[in-house]
Amino acid sequence: SALTPAQALQAGRAVLAEVFGYADFRGLQADVVAHVAAGGDALVLMPTGGGKSLCYQIPAIVRQRAGLGVTIVVSPLIALMHDQVGALREAGVEAAYLNSTLTPAQAAEVEQRLVRGELTLLYAAPERLVTPRFVARLQALHAAGRLALLAIDEAHCVSQWGHDFRPEYRELAVLAERLPGVPRVALTATADALTRADIVAHLHLQQARTFVASFDRPNIRYTIVEKRDTLRQLLRFIGDEHTLPDGHHDSGIVYCASRRKVEAVAARLQAAGLQALPYHAGLDAATRQRHQDRFLREEGLVMVATVAFGMGVDKPDVRFVAHVDLPKNIEGYYQETGRAGRDGEPANAWMAYGLGDVVQQRRLIDDSAASDDFKRVQRGKLDALLALAESTTCRRQQLLAYFGEASSPCGNCDNCLAPPQTWDATEAARKLLSCIYRLQQTGQAWGAGHVIDVLRGQATDKVRQHGHERLSTWAIGRELDETEWRRVLRQLVALGAVQVAGEFHTLHLTAAARPILRGEQAVRLRVAAAPSGAGRGRATR
Ligand code: ADP
Ligand code: ZN
Repeated sequence: SALTPAQALQAGRAVLAEVFGYADFRGLQADVVAHVAAGGDALVLMPTGGGKSLCYQIPAIVRQRAGLGVTIVVSPLIALMHDQVGALREAGVEAAYLNSTLTPAQAAEVEQRLVRGELTLLYAAPERLVTPRFVARLQALHAAGRLALLAIDEAHCVSQWGHDFRPEYRELAVLAERLPGVPRVALTATADALTRADIVAHLHLQQARTFVASFDRPNIRYTIVEKRDTLRQLLRFIGDEHTLPDGHHDSGIVYCASRRKVEAVAARLQAAGLQALPYHAGLDAATRQRHQDRFLREEGLVMVATVAFGMGVDKPDVRFVAHVDLPKNIEGYYQETGRAGRDGEPANAWMAYGLGDVVQQRRLIDDSAASDDFKRVQRGKLDALLALAESTTCRRQQLLAYFGEASSPCGNCDNCLAPPQTWDATEAARKLLSCIYRLQQTGQAWGAGHVIDVLRGQATDKVRQHGHERLSTWAIGRELDETEWRRVLRQLVALGAVQVAGEFHTLHLTAAARPILRGEQAVRLRVAAAPSGAGRGRATR
């Protein structure tokens, strides 16, 4: 009993209202449901909160009702599986999960229900699905015409370029090979062109139709400020923008790069009277669970966390996501900031960024044991994020462009709301690069502090000891102060013209410095913003 897309859509609408109690599909949901419920393969790219779940849950119910059997959902996260199965059962849908939390007896019971055809949706961890025994079971169901659909959630986990690579996702290819003709839908909120190509290749989705929703989250205001005193800037941001009239504050997440930083930031926020909880992989499971539960349940908590926190955490009223360290790439940044404002109300994505971040992320890549290819891709991805951080034009436009979406200036990011004044820093950049070049010719490598001292003509002990006041670039940069020179340097590092390397963070020119040195490439810098960089009042609501 095959369904046409039109029939599938009609049945889907009925399920949407009856089972889920919603009046209308959102965005691309209707198109996806019509295609998938009718048996087509699909790759669905939708931002977090876009409503991906219904894109396979409704086809599952429609196809079960049409006598086509069960839908298997691959999900990487146990907590997410539990939530979804719980919600489906509450709505009267026969759903179950198979994962490591079940006893052997419970798992056997679920498998019996599967065999008896009692289930509409079965959620399973990938490593469970690909065991030969389970694949054989699925093949038997398929042969009997009772395997309706395979849904692969968080499909970007298949890509080693992404930040959530899970090797067991690679093995899902076996499902495509062993279960030919079973419709498959893969879904993700994270997909630049490279990740997308990986999903298609590894899950054999060459024939699938791709549905790309707009990734825009118009209610999120993006702000990226220059680091000065990061924690004071963070406190001021929360104080200015997220303190309620009664003195309480909004719920938010502060992302840090390390466990140690998480602990330090949480302590500082607590000392400032904020309700803050740490979350990182170094805490025991019970503490992590307790903190997560409190964050979800209570109002006005700030979760200070590493990226270990957030996937599958669905709290609608997170009013801000702050980054006090640079994420790895734009996908990570977008996924993390996407946890703000799921309810559609105004929310802030705030990030503080400095030279140290660039140096640290570059070194993480350089020092990793990965292949050269892998490093090259990671460097490219980092560069895109740095370009965003340094940019003087609409942040949203650049974010969306990164995901292949054209748009106009948004009116709801820092650069749109207060267009930064820029100055032509080409000459300054040339001076700085020449100074690094001259110093390199001494046969030794030098750090930022010394280079800037030489530029500014500061006769320090080190300068005198090495006779650097005799260099041709001595004191050619008196017009800028040290902070401004560091800003020029950061831009040059972000542009890839200068590399910061080694134990002593010494500066080295790269091939990208040449066009700037020759005056063929202009460098524009923003004029320093107000100290907090934000502080244009609370996001209105
Ligand atoms: P995603 O998995 O893409 O992050 P979800 O599937 O969790 O998003 O959906 C996000 C929220 O939007 C959920 O609370 C869901 O119930 C709600 N939602 C999804 N589709 C609709 C719809 N058509 N009408 C109303 N609410 C919807
Ligand atoms: Zn903008």
